[in-house]
Amino acid sequence: MQPTTASKRRNMQAVKCRDTKPERFARRELHRAGFRFQLHRRDLPGTPDIVLPRFRLVVWVHGCFWHGHTCAKGQRRPRTNSEFWAEKLDANVRRDRANVDAVTAAGWGARVLWECSLNEDCSSLIQELRQRRVRGAS
Ligand SMILES: [Zn+2]
Repeated sequence: MQPTTASKRRNMQAVKCRDTKPERFARRELHRAGFRFQLHRRDLPGTPDIVLPRFRLVVWVHGCFWHGHTCAKGQRRPRTNSEFWAEKLDANVRRDRANVDAVTAAGWGARVLWECSLNEDCSSLIQELRQRRVRGAS
């Protein structure tokens, strides 16, 4: 059975939704650590979730399922409507790669924080930013 238009639309919204819980968590952690950032800058490829202009760095917070993480949840593919899902999820992964390439080409750094390892990913990002700040990033 093909997904209905309504369920397709819901899925599209799900993948595009802003201010997800993992994203709010990442923002709170960065803010607590004293870093200032901008959100969803549309002038940058892929409208990155978090932008740290002083570090010329963009950050995406990705849900494992939607963005095809290498973890178990990210590799899971629904059995029903499998073709629809394969196409959709593969397209997400391709788009993510293209966005990273585009921001990199524009001279920005790109980091991805994954839902399944959000704590660790946030910590290592903050550690990296602290080290760069010590070295005098402007
Ligand atoms: Zn994952």
